[in-house]
Amino acid sequence: MSVWRLRDLVEAAAAHVIGHAEELTDLDRAIGDGDHGVNMSRGCEAVLADLQAISGLPLGEAANLIGRTLVMTIGGASGPLFGTFFMRFGDAVIASATRGEFVEAFDAAVRAVAARGKSKAGEKTMLDVLVPVGDALRACEACSELLRHVRATAHDAAAGTIGMIATKGRASYLGGRSVGHMDPGARSSALIVEAVCLVLERLE
Ligand code: ADP
Ligand code: MG
Repeated sequence: MSVWRLRDLVEAAAAHVIGHAEELTDLDRAIGDGDHGVNMSRGCEAVLADLQAISGLPLGEAANLIGRTLVMTIGGASGPLFGTFFMRFGDAVIASATRGEFVEAFDAAVRAVAARGKSKAGEKTMLDVLVPVGDALRACEACSELLRHVRATAHDAAAGTIGMIATKGRASYLGGRSVGHMDPGARSSALIVEAVCLVLERLE
């Protein structure tokens, strides 16, 4: 794989989320309060405004800054959770991480989200994408199609929340009526993973 630029990954992920803001809003309108698209766009715009500073930093510090920016700007339930993900990932990852070390850092970040949200996979949240993506990264250690596999996993895992009953967050107020709708935070998590994979796939 040729050398990737942090700037391209961050820019692509933020732009992808912003480009899907309306979809995220519609999903959150169905089972929440309809602010997820606006929340995520605000966070991503703030990250884009910091792009110069972020792209000059080593990976860990860059992820940390992204996390702090997201905590301050997204708001809602998802802001502290996405912020926790990137801050914990930033603490754990090293600039020259091997795939194994990268996967460990990703897992540590997912565990931190679960601890912060007092949640786990199966409750119709962003964890229903983050956990399977972590599993795919780990299982696919020697996979030639790693990026495509991870991207498809993220996409399918978000779609998989349609059939779930929400037991955490605002959507849990709906109980069984949350079934039939994709979780907005799962979808935004998948959008981020997909965008990063697509940039890296183009470099293969
Ligand atoms: P709010 O629910 O406060 O309006 P958002 O709409 O921005 O915040 O984010 C909602 C998303 O946050 C949900 O779709 C879900 O994925 C995620 N979420 C909410 N609560 C939790 C939790 N306890 N653990 C993990 N994710 C959660
Ligand atoms: Mg909301």
